[in-house]
Amino acid sequence: MRLAERLSRIKPSATLAINAKTQELRAQGRQVVSLAVGEPDFPTPEHICAAAKEAIEQGFTRYTAVPGIPELREQAARYYERFYGVSAPKEAVILSNGGKQALYNLFLALLGPGDEVLLPAPYWVSYPDMVALADAACVPVPAGADKNYLVDVDDLESAATPRTRALILNSPSNPTGCCYTQAQLDAIAEWAVARGIFVISDEVYDRLVYAPAEPATLSPWWKKHPENFAIIGALSKTFCMTGWRVGWCLAHPDLVKAMVKIQGQSTSNVCSITQKAALAALTGPWDLVEEMKTAFARRRDLVLEAIATWPGAVCPKPDGAFYAFPDVSACYTAQIPDSTTLCTKLLEEAETALVPGAAFGDDRCIRISYALDDATLARAMERIGAVLRGK
Ligand code: PLP
Repeated sequence: MRLAERLSRIKPSATLAINAKTQELRAQGRQVVSLAVGEPDFPTPEHICAAAKEAIEQGFTRYTAVPGIPELREQAARYYERFYGVSAPKEAVILSNGGKQALYNLFLALLGPGDEVLLPAPYWVSYPDMVALADAACVPVPAGADKNYLVDVDDLESAATPRTRALILNSPSNPTGCCYTQAQLDAIAEWAVARGIFVISDEVYDRLVYAPAEPATLSPWWKKHPENFAIIGALSKTFCMTGWRVGWCLAHPDLVKAMVKIQGQSTSNVCSITQKAALAALTGPWDLVEEMKTAFARRRDLVLEAIATWPGAVCPKPDGAFYAFPDVSACYTAQIPDSTTLCTKLLEEAETALVPGAAFGDDRCIRISYALDDATLARAMERIGAVLRGK
């Protein structure tokens, strides 16, 4: 089968490969616990589901405007006022099918052949492939566990070239759970403005930050320099709506128009029913978010305690999202030389699925998602520890 050249530039998602192997083992009757999931283990809140049912009953089942129904654009814009005191008009927002499509639209609208995008590593798996589909290339900027997986201006300056068009920041981070402070973000933003580098701030986990850490944002920088910043948001993680597919981009209205043009020729609007559900999410109670934060902070501590017993493992404390990213390279041997081999061994011997750090640009690490109940999580962490100690 002859396929387009662009397929050679992208690889299949590593997470999907792990899930397939997990399913295979489960089909053989093995009790595999998955610490590889990228979504909260809570159900979508009832009032959100009720709004969707009502939308169907009322026949709200037609095409809508491509960037979303005006009241939802308005509410997505208000998100920044509500949490960060940043006012934004609805024309600065486009609703898309998840944060993923928002990012993809943005890359297509901004990037082209020869453009370089600075990408702090470890990074979320999809960025390099999405950027490649937009004909540009990512330049990884490594920051290891010793730096809490966070880059600074010096790191970025030494990776920048005259071809650098953009920088992607993701805080809280998938895969590390680490967060930039507002002061750290501000320093990077100031550098990017001075350098004329466009900043894409992926803030899809910004409601899942654990005290005493506080959410940080580049939305005030977007307000000051709208032509230089875009913010990605989503309801997927905040409201356990991963399957509903709704996210957005806050950007300069001209850039939003460009993204509307792209989305209008691909998927058009987000599902009309989902939009009503999203409206209920943004305007309704936020209790679930608090409940999840309490559970995730407790599980985060449980995970860190377990990792502390693993030989030589180093894990910066994650302040957000629901991931931990320990550097386990001290456990590597001639037989287990990398994260992929280690994850295969852990899947087979500890019956626990994890994503190898190599998928996120750091082969010394493994990603643990703690979006599952405490008892199962504790059991899985113990099983991993037993394998690592036995080697
Ligand atoms: N950005 C990050 C860092 C993510 O981890 C994800 C999902 O895992 C997304 C964006 C996309 O989320 P969605 O398209 O489900 O809203």
